[in-house]
Amino acid sequence: KSTLNPLKRINQEIYSYAANKQQEIEELKRMAAYRREFLADVSHELKTPIFAAQGFIYTLLDGAVKDKSVRNKFLKKAGKSLDGLEMLVNDLLTLSHIEAGEIKMHFESFDILALVHDVIDQLEGKAEKKHMQLKLDKAYEPIEVYADYNRIYQVIINLVTNALKYSSEDTEVVIGFEIHKADVEVSVKDNGSGISPEHIKRIFDRFYRIDKSRSKDRGGTGLGLAIVKHIVEAHGSSVIVTSAVGKGSTFSFKLPRMNPIKHKVVESDEAE
Ligand code: ADP
Repeated sequence: KSTLNPLKRINQEIYSYAANKQQEIEELKRMAAYRREFLADVSHELKTPIFAAQGFIYTLLDGAVKDKSVRNKFLKKAGKSLDGLEMLVNDLLTLSHIEAGEIKMHFESFDILALVHDVIDQLEGKAEKKHMQLKLDKAYEPIEVYADYNRIYQVIINLVTNALKYSSEDTEVVIGFEIHKADVEVSVKDNGSGISPEHIKRIFDRFYRIDKSRSKDRGGTGLGLAIVKHIVEAHGSSVIVTSAVGKGSTFSFKLPRMNPIKHKVVESDEAE
């Protein structure tokens, strides 16, 4: 039996109900603030390529540029701005789906070595343009992992693209694996600009760029690492960055080697 008198008990119930409601209100306020901030960031980011494309197109329409090769240059630049806009919208959609928990992960067993070879094939041309080498640290046998193939493909594309972008010519980007019993650590290492500790904390925030103008020149959306972080976390892992300014950076993350649930069942079968 409760020793509290009924009035006191009712008072307590009202108090705890109010405290709960207060918490809900705080959560809603936090979400509204997040949405406002997100919208402000997005509008700002969208404006840049739109203004640039408008600028080139309206200058051409004015008829002030007579030289045909200059006119072509302007059109190309307008096209590039629109390409950037498309990239931004694609990344925004991906990020917002992931953040809203709308993207289902499709876990399956596959060979991560083959995936990395595909990434290397896809980005080799980009590396060659900067006289950079893109390679594996050594030869491996196939490495089976249990993960979402398409998402992990995107993670490695994003990390390697960054490694190529933020490195100077004639350097190399090296992909390596550390194979443990239960998981595999995948790493992407560059000898690029490096990242100082105060920036490392923030590079996974959406739209955060260390050098705004230079990063934009290099064609990024500022969303690549935010997407990487979400995907890796959805695999129960996290992205580790080790970096030294002027020397280079290594981004790494772990993936399970097999379906943990299936594995357990197999083990218990064997024990019987
Ligand atoms: P972006 O589209 O600008 O590349 P990201 O989210 O992929 O956006 O990266 C955020 C920022 O982190 C970049 O603008 C860059 O300043 C920094 N960064 C990312 N990867 C590297 C790297 N390998 N070396 C140095 N800086 C990097």
